[in-house]
Amino acid sequence: MGSAALVGLVLAAAPPPSVVSVDGVLCDITRSLVQSDARVTCLVPPGADPHGMALRGSDRQALSTARLVLVNGYNLTPAMNRIRVSAPVVAVAERATPGNPAKDPHVWHDPGLTSAMVRESATALRPLLGAAKAGALQRRSQAMQAVLNQLGSWSAAQLQTVPSAQRVLVTEHRAFSAFARRYGIRELPVIDDFASGGTLRPSSLGAISRAIRQSGTKAIFAEALPPSKTLRRISSFSGVAIAKQPLYADGLAPGKSLIQTATANVCTFVTAQGGRCDQRTASALQQQWAAIR
Ligand SMILES: [Zn+2]
Repeated sequence: MGSAALVGLVLAAAPPPSVVSVDGVLCDITRSLVQSDARVTCLVPPGADPHGMALRGSDRQALSTARLVLVNGYNLTPAMNRIRVSAPVVAVAERATPGNPAKDPHVWHDPGLTSAMVRESATALRPLLGAAKAGALQRRSQAMQAVLNQLGSWSAAQLQTVPSAQRVLVTEHRAFSAFARRYGIRELPVIDDFASGGTLRPSSLGAISRAIRQSGTKAIFAEALPPSKTLRRISSFSGVAIAKQPLYADGLAPGKSLIQTATANVCTFVTAQGGRCDQRTASALQQQWAAIR
């Protein structure tokens, strides 16, 4: 056997490189970009809280053997600040949105910024996958950006059906500033605005209730179900109901893709605020995303 053939055999037998995707929506972005060309480990499970996440032994193990670590950045997962890894760590949302004015880490609620995150992830993955896989990586990256571009137009069209007085998003925490900026919606994160440190004093409860009633909103949005005790108190004090579906603020919804999560969030908001949601186009976008290979 010639040496070139031997090298070919060794390369063919080499396991695909390991990548760790830490938080936010990077799990779906990375898996969709690399398919079977890399082994992807996701650290924050869908529906879990990245802000308070603690690294487990298996997470440390995955980080120590990874050849690349993709992290959202803007301190979405403070637990990552305390660890050292030898692989390059790329803060994808920070690279994608260097001008993030609010330093709100949840930038992917604007599909234009998610698209930039796809581009930055692909750039970080390219050296790892090598020249032979570069074409496929580029093709998937472009297909994903095309779907995200359509998601942006679709979302804007759904939000247009909400009467302008109700284009306000009342939540506990500031997690939707990218969404609010993109679609011209007022954001009212009541705990962050009125109860610093998270303690809800009777005076803050009164101020929150007044702000909610003055906002014109028809609903308050929970980040998980069942809603927190604090949110239930705010709802009963203000007389404004909690929306039946939660908004997924911190990443992917359990068992759902990035596009399924994003369209669900838009439909939850639009439906609760008196607008209409075009589910058929949403499901076409979801299928287009899932078909990327
Ligand atoms: Zn969050």
